Amino acid sequence: MLYLADPDHLEPFVPGEPAFRAAQLHEWLYEHPVLTTEAMTNLPAPLRSGLSDRLWPFAVDVEQRSDSDTTRKWLFRSPDGVAFEAVLMGYPNRVTLCLSSQAGCALGCTFCATGQFGFDRHLEAGEIVAQLAFARAHLAAEPMPGCPDRVSNVVFMGMGEPLANYDRVRESLRRMIEVMGISARAITVSTVGVTPGIRRLADEPWRVNLAVSLHAADDDLRGRLLPINRRYPLADVESAAAEFFEKTGRRVSLEWTMIDGVNDNEDQAVKLAPIARRLHAHVNLIAMNPTPLTESMPSSQERIDSFVATLRTEGVNVTVRDTRGRDIDAACGQLRARS
Ligand code: SAH
Ligand code: SF4
Repeated sequence: MLYLADPDHLEPFVPGEPAFRAAQLHEWLYEHPVLTTEAMTNLPAPLRSGLSDRLWPFAVDVEQRSDSDTTRKWLFRSPDGVAFEAVLMGYPNRVTLCLSSQAGCALGCTFCATGQFGFDRHLEAGEIVAQLAFARAHLAAEPMPGCPDRVSNVVFMGMGEPLANYDRVRESLRRMIEVMGISARAITVSTVGVTPGIRRLADEPWRVNLAVSLHAADDDLRGRLLPINRRYPLADVESAAAEFFEKTGRRVSLEWTMIDGVNDNEDQAVKLAPIARRLHAHVNLIAMNPTPLTESMPSSQERIDSFVATLRTEGVNVTVRDTRGRDIDAACGQLRARS
């Protein structure tokens, strides 16, 4: 049950009704999202019953929980059969929604399950914000133990490449920030380095965070891991990221999936350091999560520690991200809408 309706055009859903009905609907969809039309208590019952299918043209196919119910993953399916996933992660001080911008992904990064299973289609803006509305309603109805009861952060790190679906992602950002009250600072758009999109994002009125998935610090290795690097090579990615930082004043973070024996050596750390320093960027390391179609393995703790040590010696700010939901294939790079 997800919303698609455009917040600015809700009148057609309540034809012949007084104008305040659209405003009520707006509130139930965007301001205090609820999970069923039954919960829209100030709308007349006959009106509610006819609305359900039109407002919520999607179904929740599968729900899985992990980490003592502080990780929840949903598989949504739209009427055309396309499936996509979102993961909600609760912490003592925040709740972060990791959402999808495309069903699948066309960019084929070798270590990513989404990329390994190909591209279905772009998600509509309404399908993207629907993931947030659903997560909000779900969390309000069933809080996570020891976590806030509001979704505070949104990361575009689920399925798909957000900057390859620019206009719809842009509209979803507008709705989240201007209609749903999520602070731009609490939103992170993660890109594999689609440089025209990075440059456009730098010119938008909202100062969201940008995460660039780097994974390799020279074109040879990066081109082997991320085919898109042949189109947008490292130097171009760096200059677009620099432009983003200059225009928005927001520090970029560099994502680095640690793959055993591939990109976790001293040489890569030494090459990464000057890039991070020039960008005043923060480096986020994450051990690779296993995916079906690659034999690659996560780096050992020892290799991660020594990579971190090299970066710190080189004056780079670095953190190692924890992994959530590996057991339910909800971790980074594991989403592939398997039902
Ligand atoms: N397409 C965008 C956003 C979705 S992927 C991007 O690539 O940035 C979100 C993050 O998960 C990216 O940093 C991506 O590199 C990382 N990732 C992909 N596969 C992974 C895996 N198997 N293990 C750990 N992280 C992975
Ligand atoms: Fe697509 Fe990002 Fe996965 Fe690469 S890592 S295949 S860009 S979702």
